[in-house]
Amino acid sequence: MTPRPFREARIDLGAIAHNIGALRAATATDYAMVVVKSRAYGHGAVEVARTAEETGVEWLGVASIEEGLELREADIRLPVLAWLHDPAADFGPAVDAGIDLGVSYLDQLDRIAATPGVAAVQLKIDTGLGRNGASPTEWRELVEAAAAHARVGRIMVRGVWSHLANAGEDADLAQVAAFEQAVAVAREAGLAPDILHLAATAGAIGVPSARFDLVRLGIGVYGLSPFGPESSAELGLRPAMELSAAVASVKRVGASSGVSYGHDYRTTRPTTLALVPLGYGDGIPRHASGRGPVSINGVTYPVAGRIAMDQLVVDVGDAEVGVGDRAILFGDPADGVPTATDWAEAADTIDYEIVTRIGGRIERTYRS
Ligand SMILES: *Cc1c(COP(=O)(O)O)cnc(C)c1O
Repeated sequence: MTPRPFREARIDLGAIAHNIGALRAATATDYAMVVVKSRAYGHGAVEVARTAEETGVEWLGVASIEEGLELREADIRLPVLAWLHDPAADFGPAVDAGIDLGVSYLDQLDRIAATPGVAAVQLKIDTGLGRNGASPTEWRELVEAAAAHARVGRIMVRGVWSHLANAGEDADLAQVAAFEQAVAVAREAGLAPDILHLAATAGAIGVPSARFDLVRLGIGVYGLSPFGPESSAELGLRPAMELSAAVASVKRVGASSGVSYGHDYRTTRPTTLALVPLGYGDGIPRHASGRGPVSINGVTYPVAGRIAMDQLVVDVGDAEVGVGDRAILFGDPADGVPTATDWAEAADTIDYEIVTRIGGRIERTYRS
């Protein structure tokens, strides 16, 4: 057996394939998009995209064109939609690579239409999130301009889409209604978009009327819930990332020993301290100091004291812990270990942020 990396984010591609299947079965749309932006939420964009391709997913989603080009360089041929562009972007490479472009405003549309080749675009309406997308007052002008560019063969309008704010059922349904209205305006302008889409994981599961032709699946693919700790297992999802490191050193100390910067933690009895080589430089949130859970040899302990840049300490009492034992910060609760959601609670954030930030010196490995 090859030794495991000192610091390892082990990605279970089988879990990712399983989660895609579970989400598709639960949402029943013609098309599913797997969102692989930001290194596939820290899981590795190319590896996740290949797995998505093998499961028969129809689309991949990324924020930036560069993320889309990275997939093409890895010879991933699935349709890709990229939606967040540098205002000064050269859209040529994306058009050449057959990457669909999300379009949010008129100047962006005109620049895309002026790019050599025929860009496939998906027009985005802001139905209430207040982020990207044309506001309803700008929408008619945008779709009429798109129809004009399409008539002369400068672009192809493949889709119309938007994004939910997850601000409660009434707000979701108001966004669905605003979306339907925007689609009607697009049709009046002469467009016949093939693909309408509004829902990410939370909407795909919780708002059936938001599913339309395609759902954009992000967090659920990685086995985490957009709603909180319970529903991940309820939805039959399996967390795909296990973050662990080898215990780097172990020492016995007396009662009343201060641990880590500021001595926020003090031992209350003679005890054993295990040093884990993971810190905020690797994406472990310092805000979880004193709280973040760590499992060593089947027992879960809170981090003792402050999380430093490169390391954290665990007070394991009188447990038999040796150098090289595996310290698991999070993984699949079915293995009896803490979850990314537990870390999110300890750091007062969401599980999305926990996995996406994992990086630094941590080596990603894969199993299927
Ligand atoms: C990130 C993102 C998604 C995926 O969201 P999840 O909540 O992770 O499923 C879908 N659509 C857009 C536009 C996004 O930015």
